[in-house]
Amino acid sequence: MEADDLRIQVAWACRILALRGHGDFTLGHVSARGSEDSIYMKRSGLGLNEVTPEDVLTIDSTGIKLEGAGQVHREVVIHTELYRARPDVGSVIHTHPPHSIALGASDAGLSLLGHDAALFKDGVGVFDDSADLITRPEQGLAVSRALGSRRAVLLRNHGVVVVGKDILWATISALTLERAAYIQAIAVSFGGLRPMTPEMAERLHPDKYPDDYMADYWQYLIRELRRQRLDHGMPEAAQP
Ligand SMILES: [Zn+2]
Repeated sequence: MEADDLRIQVAWACRILALRGHGDFTLGHVSARGSEDSIYMKRSGLGLNEVTPEDVLTIDSTGIKLEGAGQVHREVVIHTELYRARPDVGSVIHTHPPHSIALGASDAGLSLLGHDAALFKDGVGVFDDSADLITRPEQGLAVSRALGSRRAVLLRNHGVVVVGKDILWATISALTLERAAYIQAIAVSFGGLRPMTPEMAERLHPDKYPDDYMADYWQYLIRELRRQRLDHGMPEAAQP
């Protein structure tokens, strides 16, 4: 994918995450891996809901800025270390969504209560070394170890890191994780939990999460942003 298209996708991903409860002042960041080791990442100092393609920096595999105006987020090592550890990952998201943080601050673990949780049938990692900001490469490496081969890791008392093979998968997975945690919080208030079996989740997964659904969900979310006039500074919709 072209650099310009990746910048646009990163900006849309930020808006989508803000729309669905991942915003937290100017915190949280999204990146996508480009060709030749370049990484496209939201700059610091902006809320997720106000990122435009011009606010997406090009950085190298060590987190040094190559192109773009503005500062690199201090937690850039989350991105650089995960890309290094996971060649299959094309996009990394770090945000502070409330229900997922609450889940990570408990001993509960994610329960297979519904279709949302079934996306995480292989489990979610937990990083509990510390609640510090992740600013040093060795901390980023520790986060990548806690993630392992999974889609998401809960940073205990801090936030989440969600990855995907591309930005669509990473974004939809981040929304789905927060929704699964939200559903679990509601279910706990009703009483004892009745999760589906791991076998059921395994069977459901390919039907519920095929590749082409991601493109449909992505386009739907962009239409929703446009309808709500939350697309300021973004490219116009392509004319038929
Ligand atoms: Zn953070």
